[in-house]
This record gives sequence, structure tokens and C-alpha cells, in this order.
Amino acid sequence: MTFIIGEPCIDVLDKSCMDICPMDCIYTGLRKNYINPVECIDCSACADVCPVDAIFPASRAVTEEQRAFADDSDLFFDSILSGREEPLGSIGGSAKVGDIGADTPLVAGHPKVVS
Ligand code: SF4
Ligand code: SF4
Repeated sequence: MTFIIGEPCIDVLDKSCMDICPMDCIYTGLRKNYINPVECIDCSACADVCPVDAIFPASRAVTEEQRAFADDSDLFFDSILSGREEPLGSIGGSAKVGDIGADTPLVAGHPKVVS
């Protein structure tokens, strides 16, 4: 199992989840964060601090949108993102790579959230 970051994170991206994650397994795209499903230990600490309640366990992805973002989370690490030459895979900590600077097509094509 793993935790998933859903649509409410898009264009919020305050990163408070990253500050609390014991595995440093939350990675920053351009408009959204993504949890590495291999590195996550399912502690749920990130879900408790998210100000927009964007984080949920993959086992509770029941709506079509939640399932889409669960699949999308895998794609972020398994596919070749814009501007990169190979998939990210399992990096072993977001501090090693910093902001990735790219999103999946689902997130990149999401309408801008205007606050
Ligand atoms: S705490 Fe929530 S809104 Fe903030 S970056 Fe993490 S998932 Fe996104
Ligand atoms: S559930 Fe725990 S290990 Fe997984 S991303 Fe959240 S804080 Fe990190």
C-alpha cells in the first residue's frame, strides 16, 4: 500500500507534508507533490498535516478521480516526464534531487486553480 496525493494539492503545494515525512519520499513536480509508492512506509503522518486534505491511502481510492490520481502517482515515477531522459524510479529521498520541475500530463493539463 501507499499514500496518494490527490487533486486538491494542485497549485497549493505548500510542502508541509514534506517537512514531516520520515522517509523523504514526497517529491515536488511543478504544480503538485507526488508520493513514491515504493519508498512510502504508510505512516500517514503527511495526511494529518495537509491543509487541503489532499492525501489518502491508496486502499481508499474509491472515486474515479481518486483512482486516476493513484494511477497518476505511479506514472510520475515510472514514465519519462517532460524534459527528462529516463523515468525517476526510486531515488531514495527527495532531498537528493530537489524539485523535479515537471508534472504528469494529468496534472500539467489540469485547469489552473485561481484563489
Ligand atoms: S501538504 Fe497537501 S497541499 Fe501541501 S504540498 Fe503536501 S499534499 Fe500538497
Ligand atoms: S505516509 Fe508516511 S512515509 Fe508515506 S509519504 Fe506520508 S509521511 Fe511519508
